[in-house]
Amino acid sequence: MLRRPILMLARSGRVKEMVTTMPVSAGIVRRYVAGERTADAVRATRELVDAGLTTSIDYLGEDTTDEKRAEATVGAYLELLQALHDAGLATSAEVSVKLSAIGQYLPGGDRVALENARRICRAAGNVGTTVTLDMEDHTTTDATLHTLRELRQDFPGTGAVLQAYLRRTEADCRRLATEGSRVRLCKGAYDEPEDVAFTDRVDVDRSYVRCLKALLAGDGYPMIATHDPRMIAIAQHLVDESGRERGSYEFQMLYGTRPEEQRRLAGLGERMRVYVPYGEEWYGYLMRRLAERPQNLSFFLRSLLSQ
Ligand code: FAD
Repeated sequence: MLRRPILMLARSGRVKEMVTTMPVSAGIVRRYVAGERTADAVRATRELVDAGLTTSIDYLGEDTTDEKRAEATVGAYLELLQALHDAGLATSAEVSVKLSAIGQYLPGGDRVALENARRICRAAGNVGTTVTLDMEDHTTTDATLHTLRELRQDFPGTGAVLQAYLRRTEADCRRLATEGSRVRLCKGAYDEPEDVAFTDRVDVDRSYVRCLKALLAGDGYPMIATHDPRMIAIAQHLVDESGRERGSYEFQMLYGTRPEEQRRLAGLGERMRVYVPYGEEWYGYLMRRLAERPQNLSFFLRSLLSQ
């Protein structure tokens, strides 16, 4: 019931301004966000790698209409990739990038975002790792998949995200389930209209299973991104049924969400990658996490009031 209003607040400039004046140490922000600086992302990666996990790191930011901001985001990724390399962590960590953070909404946006994504992919390739393009709201799906196709010509390891709540996604999964294609399957985190998305949880879960079957039946590399115990159990069953070997797919979860389960799956020998966000622009990301788990809202409000 609270999901839609919280997701609307996620795009409210005024609420964002009010909330983000609070320091990042506010309890719940700290739980879901590794910190503000490159060193924080590297430290979080080190801790997770020591526990047998890998990471995909997101420099927070989205919907940028400021050219300097987009350029600063590219710079932050380049600095991060170099820091991971220097720390000997570049093969245990990749990066996740939102095209709206690197220029998609600027004039000539698709071209700008593509060129900026190329710079990040090139830097990632130079240190031996990869990039995954996050997926944002449905108005950007076609443009993001087009950019993915362009990037994969030069950087074939570039990954995509598909959202099971979109009605189109089962077909997209079939199209992308080809050799070398890395596809992260998640349920989807945005407020989407009914004509393009399933809005009932049961329908989203059913779609997730259909999409997973399509990915596992293909030749690509499925990245199973969910915290849902039912989806994880079904995925393990489908993996066994498909005859896929460990290492030909992976599980993914978000930093701070079900950390014990992350370690349990890694302990079973599953590949487990944790999505680690860092940076000052945490507002939109955190609001989506609250929309998924409104129980956390009262904790969040209390931690703001106690500042
Ligand atoms: P939900 O339907 O939210 O929850 C199902 C069940 O999982 C709950 O009933 C509970 O048992 C358990 N659970 C869920 N959250 C918690 C929690 N915090 N603590 C304890 N138990 C919990 N979305 C996008 O739109 N684009 C992206 O690019 C994107 N990238 C992602 C990358 C990764 C690695 C992950 C894990 C998610 C990503 N998402 C992305 C978010 C995703 O779309 C979902 O919004 C989010 O993962 C919540 O869905 P869920 O599958 O975990 O299950």
